[in-house]
Amino acid sequence: MMENRAIYGPEYEELRRNARRFFETELLPNIDQWEEDGIVPKDMWLKAGAMGILCPTVPEEYGGAGGDFLHLSVIDEELGYTGQASFTIQTHTDIVAAYVEALGTEEQKRRWLPRMVTGELIGAVAMTEPQAGSDLKAITTTARRDGDHYILKGQKTYITNGINADLVIVVAKTAPELGRKGVSLIVVEAPVEGFARGKRLKKMGMKASDTAELFFDDVRVPVTNLLGEENAGFRQVMHEIPKERLSIATIAMAAAQKAFDMTVAYVKDRQVFGKPLIEFQNTQFKLAELKTHLAVGWAHLDHCIAKHLKGKLTSDEAAVAKLFNTELQCRVVDECLQLHGGWGYMAETPIARMYTDARVRRIAGGSSEIMKMLIARTL
Ligand SMILES: Cc1cc2nc3c(=O)[nH]c(=O)nc-3n(C[C@H](O)[C@H](O)[C@H](O)COP(=O)(O)OP(=O)(O)OC[C@H]3O[C@@H](n4cnc5c(N)ncnc54)[C@H](O)[C@@H]3O)c2cc1C
Repeated sequence: MMENRAIYGPEYEELRRNARRFFETELLPNIDQWEEDGIVPKDMWLKAGAMGILCPTVPEEYGGAGGDFLHLSVIDEELGYTGQASFTIQTHTDIVAAYVEALGTEEQKRRWLPRMVTGELIGAVAMTEPQAGSDLKAITTTARRDGDHYILKGQKTYITNGINADLVIVVAKTAPELGRKGVSLIVVEAPVEGFARGKRLKKMGMKASDTAELFFDDVRVPVTNLLGEENAGFRQVMHEIPKERLSIATIAMAAAQKAFDMTVAYVKDRQVFGKPLIEFQNTQFKLAELKTHLAVGWAHLDHCIAKHLKGKLTSDEAAVAKLFNTELQCRVVDECLQLHGGWGYMAETPIARMYTDARVRRIAGGSSEIMKMLIARTL
C-alpha cells in the first residue's frame, strides 16, 4: 500500500529506491549491534548524510537538496518500513533542522544547516523535564539574560539523540513570570561548560536510539543562539508541532504496514494442524481487518500530507493522524505478533522488536490523551 499513491509523482521514486537500498545495506545488517550498544555510531550519521538521507528539505544554498515535505515523508516511510526505526534521524531532520529552517536567522542557517545535512552535527530537542512532559508550560529550566549571553539552568529528560547530539534546541523560560508567554528556544552547541549528559537511559524498545538526561548548570549561551523570537517559543513549538505529528504518523503507518506484510508471508509459510496458517478463517479475518484499517490509515495520512503541502493542515487533523496511526501501529504489531505464536515472543524476531518499538509512539510527541484533548477542543 506504500507504492502507487496519488500524492507522490515519479520524481520521488529515485529517493525512495535510494533510501530503501541505504537502509537495507547499512541499517539492517547493523541494527542488532546498535541495539546492544544503545546507540548508533556517528559514522552512520555521516553515511546517511552522504546518501542524502538527512534533512532533504534544506535549501541548496545551505547545502541541502532543496526538497519538499514529500521528500521527507518518503524517507520517514522507508525508515518506518525497515521495521527497525530506532535510528532516530527523524528528530534530527523533521524537528531540529526543520526548526532551524523555519525560525533561524540567515547566520544560524549558514552555521548549522550544512553540517546537519552531512551528519557532522547531530540534533536533539529538549523540551521534557522530570516534572513537565505533556504540560510543556510547566517547565522550570530558565535562561536568564546576562549581557549578550543567556545563563541556562535546568534539567531535561528522555531526550532522543541525547548522547550523540552536538546541537540541542532547549526549551527554556526567559520570562518565568509570564508562563507560556515567557518561553524561548535556545540552541546549545556542545561541548560547552556547564552542559552535561546523564547516563544513557535503558528503554523497553527503540534501543538503538540514545535517550538521555541533559543537565544545564549555568551554561553561557550567546544571545545569537536564540531561535526565533524571545518569549515566543511556546507559540513557535505549537506552530511546528502538527508537521512533526504528521511525521510520527507516517513512520507509524509504514512500520504497521511492514508488520502486516511480514506476517502475511509468515502465515503462508507456517504449517499448523497440517496446513498453512493462512488457510484458517481466523487468520484470514484478522488480516482482512488489519488490511482494512491500514487502507483507511494511509488514505487519511495522504489527505493530511496533501493539506500540509497546501499549508492548510490544522492541529486537530494532525492530532487525528497521530492518534489513529500510532494506535493502529500498536494494534497491528500486537495482532501480528499473535499470529507468529511463540516465535513472535522471541527477542530475535523482527516482530518482537517492532512490538516494543511501537509502544513509544502513543506516548512521545504528544500522548494519545493529549491528541484526544486537541481533537475534543473542536467539538
Ligand atoms: C523514547 C522516548 C523519547 C523521547 N524523546 C524526547 C525528546 O527527544 N525530546 C523531548 O523533549 N521529549 C522526549 N520524550 C518525552 C515525551 O515527549 C514525553 O514522555 C511525553 O510528552 C509525555 O510526557 P510525560 O512522560 O511527562 O508524561 P505525563 O505528562 O506525566 O503523562 C502521564 C500520563 O498522563 C496523561 N495525561 C497527561 N496530561 C493529561 C490530561 N490533561 N488529560 C488526560 N491525561 C493526561 C498522559 O497522556 C499519560 O498517559 C521522549 C519520551 C520517550 C519515552
